[in-house]
Amino acid sequence: MRFLILISLVFLLGSTILSAQELATKVPDLAQLQKMTARFAPTELKVDISGLSDGDRKALAKLIEAARLIDPIFMQQYWSGDLALYAKLQKDASPLGKARLHYFWINKGPWSELDGNSAFIPGVPEHKLPGANFYPESMTKEKFESWVKTLSEAEQKQATGFFTVIRSDGKNGFKIVPYSEAYKEDLTKAAKLLNDAASLTDNATLKRFLTTREAAFLSNDYYESDVAWMDLDAPLDITIGPYETYNDEVFGYKASYEAYVNVRDDQESAKLSAFARDLQEIENNLPIDPKYRNPKIGGQAPIRVVNEVMSAGDGNHAVQTAAYNLPNDERVVAEKGSKRVMLKNVQQAKFQQILIPISKKVLVADEQGDVSFDAFFTHILTHELCHGLGPHQITLNGKPTTPREQLKELYSAIEEAKADATGLFALQYMIDHAQAMGLADILKPDANSEKRLYTTYLASSFRTLRFGIGEAHGKGMAMQVNYLMDKGGFVARPDGTFAVDYTRIKDAVRDLTHDLLTLEAEGNYAGAKQMLDTLGVLRPEFRAALDKLGDIPVDIEPVFVTADEVAPPSVKHRP
Ligand code: ZN
Repeated sequence: MRFLILISLVFLLGSTILSAQELATKVPDLAQLQKMTARFAPTELKVDISGLSDGDRKALAKLIEAARLIDPIFMQQYWSGDLALYAKLQKDASPLGKARLHYFWINKGPWSELDGNSAFIPGVPEHKLPGANFYPESMTKEKFESWVKTLSEAEQKQATGFFTVIRSDGKNGFKIVPYSEAYKEDLTKAAKLLNDAASLTDNATLKRFLTTREAAFLSNDYYESDVAWMDLDAPLDITIGPYETYNDEVFGYKASYEAYVNVRDDQESAKLSAFARDLQEIENNLPIDPKYRNPKIGGQAPIRVVNEVMSAGDGNHAVQTAAYNLPNDERVVAEKGSKRVMLKNVQQAKFQQILIPISKKVLVADEQGDVSFDAFFTHILTHELCHGLGPHQITLNGKPTTPREQLKELYSAIEEAKADATGLFALQYMIDHAQAMGLADILKPDANSEKRLYTTYLASSFRTLRFGIGEAHGKGMAMQVNYLMDKGGFVARPDGTFAVDYTRIKDAVRDLTHDLLTLEAEGNYAGAKQMLDTLGVLRPEFRAALDKLGDIPVDIEPVFVTADEVAPPSVKHRP
């Protein structure tokens, strides 16, 4: 699963964006295309690789080359005409041709993801095909389903599995083609590069992942290498292979190839383990009825904080991934759990290009200086850990159950809001007790720590609200800010800006944390519904503030400076 930070794209239709009808009738001209492209702020991704061993630095070059092979594989998966169109665009030296190539490369295809996947180049289907190139274009859902019924059980598994494409058999029926066959040429080259990297690195967990994944590229059996990826904990970090199924909009069966080449962030990793060590103390002091506190909280799923050197394929088209949870294979998840990878420098780039400009428009002038990336990222880390706090196993009418079961479709909005609020509460608690908890060196609390925490949080709420309240995350965010406004923790000024009231915010956060945790502890569906219905709305003062954000970029376009230095590319994609 992937986290883009920018949430629901359908809500982005603003003044700078063409309507779907406009795009359907004519493709954008040069000026329009430049406007569309400008929504992605070009941002250099630089990573300090000086801490890598000699062997890892050589291995890094091999991994970058392997990751670059993932782009053409993904493009074959995306659309049958993708690679041919790409080759044609590269030969077009006109300004319009160059602009098309640039925006094509951002989207990895001729459809603009921010505009409902509508075409921006003539002569292609008006929209991205729902089945991408995983199935024959003429295949219907019903036809596939009735064909699957005629197969043996083993074949059915293959047909509906992650790692096969379905092709016409030329006789009015279908056949199953494993990825290892469909993309044999590129996968064989990539496998060789993984093997080279495995022999260069001195880290055993990386060596193990690379050799098993090399084998998987050729055998099409990914299980063992997914298990090895769960154990991967190395200065040089990589995710490469077929993972997410979002591009198969017909069935959600087929995995798209992606790659992330990363370097572990040791400082943030140390922060994370220090926080994780103190979680039980936070739980013991949660602002809820003590009977709901968990005397022994469960183990945490592994979290890695890394800096992205480069991404490719499904991991680098349109809105950039900020964090991901993998693998998706339920057999591996059942045995080993899943791992979360947080891309710190990608989040920093988004913070700089989007959150800072937003804060300048919505915050009171003298608080703008308190918006801090360190506070932002530390809260995201704490948010993740706080999913593990609070009620998870509850008893209702004498029967064991869970908040998820009881809150049903409201659960994710409540749980995300709970992790946000509990994250603020936990950070305040750690700031207050930094000395006693041995966190002074890590948190370095000073007179402005609290200001940075709450002001940054206020600014970041606008970034989430910008994408509307149509889905769980936005609705949950609106609920939080309205609650904190009603308690006086956040204040709307007559000039349309917002500020934090430091005399009230702590109590307000404490109350919010209490209310959300209690809803979960009591499995209170009616209470959750009432809270979301009354507070999960966009009030006029927020709507007015959001209207001022029109020209601020929607996302970044990463420029992989370090990757290009370590392994110079043969093709340039930006004009
Ligand atoms: Zn979360």
